[in-house]
Amino acid sequence: MTPAADADALRTAVLVVAAGRGIRAGGGVPKQYRLLGGQTVLGRTLAALLADANLGRVVVAIHPDDLPLYLLASAAHAGDPRLLPPVHGGHSRQASVRAGLEALAADPPDVILVHDGVRPFVDPALTARVTTALTAGADAAIPAMPVTDTLKRVTADDTITATVDRTSLRAVQTPQGFRFAALLERHRAAAHRDDMTDDAALFDRPEDRVVAVAGEPGNVKLTTPEDFAAADMRLAAGRRVATGIGYDVHAFGPGGSVALGGVAIAHDTGVLAHSDGDVALHALTDAVLGALGDGDIGTHFPPSEERWRGASSDRFLSHAAGLVRARDGAITHLDVTIVCEAPRVGPHRPAMRRAIAAAAGIDEDRVSIKATTSERLGFTGRKEGLAALAIATIELPR
Ligand code: MG
Repeated sequence: MTPAADADALRTAVLVVAAGRGIRAGGGVPKQYRLLGGQTVLGRTLAALLADANLGRVVVAIHPDDLPLYLLASAAHAGDPRLLPPVHGGHSRQASVRAGLEALAADPPDVILVHDGVRPFVDPALTARVTTALTAGADAAIPAMPVTDTLKRVTADDTITATVDRTSLRAVQTPQGFRFAALLERHRAAAHRDDMTDDAALFDRPEDRVVAVAGEPGNVKLTTPEDFAAADMRLAAGRRVATGIGYDVHAFGPGGSVALGGVAIAHDTGVLAHSDGDVALHALTDAVLGALGDGDIGTHFPPSEERWRGASSDRFLSHAAGLVRARDGAITHLDVTIVCEAPRVGPHRPAMRRAIAAAAGIDEDRVSIKATTSERLGFTGRKEGLAALAIATIELPR
């Protein structure tokens, strides 16, 4: 049997532990929700696990306060039936794992992999080694790496007292794999304590067979700011920058308001358009599509289609941004220049910036809005209409 067939036969579920409060990595949010290359760490972890066809259900143990952060981090997978609703973790890692196991107990899988939410570089070859070891009869299988640094034993005042033989030592990673029923039983039996930081440690009976499989050097746990800096560099090395340009024009027409940058601005005219005629959002959408090399706004939202009549144009930009995320990319920056004699853009700039950032799913400091007149020259100068030019900068995997 291939490892894939084994995993399928075993019905493997994954429990991702992401209830920690650690903010020492910086960014003001728990580290699993920090952005890494434009996506949250947890979002990357989920993407890596859900891309592995050998894995079945995935459930995440989160802190109850983090539900809004979790919903954002997991939004790209909201439609994936393998991603179960999150469970509320406990006040310790052990309690969070227990909560996740209990949530799966009603329809128990055969095998459970317990994985740290802050190890986003997990890959299918590693999970296959873990599940294969379980198929071969192990009670627990954990990825482990040789220790390469020389190890010293020290006293409380940092005096070195001995060199530790490292040949029999391993640094362990996740995912750690277990037979589900056995791990649930061990966790229930250990409910009186609260100090287990490693699930394999529950398998300490003489008859237990816990095996180490080869870990991955890249499967790092992101904890410190230095870990994040290294991970950012690693991702950047595998990515390319692409830019795209967009241009759009609409003529003024009957009406009393102009949609511009996602904001309705009262004006003595409206605009002639099939949709709401928001030149800024249309130019930005074309710029993002241009960076992707994926046609233009007319290809994705044909004006011939009745359903786009009067459409609010933020959905066009949201759609383009979703195409970037679907390719594991990220929007680095959006810059738009609006050309018109009127209405005045300045007073609405903060609201436009908010609306564009929200539609694109990026931070406001990655959105720039500029405005100019055309010195009364040309169609914009004659107040016959308005125009916008935009540039999008995105990152894509190489
Ligand atoms: Mg247009």
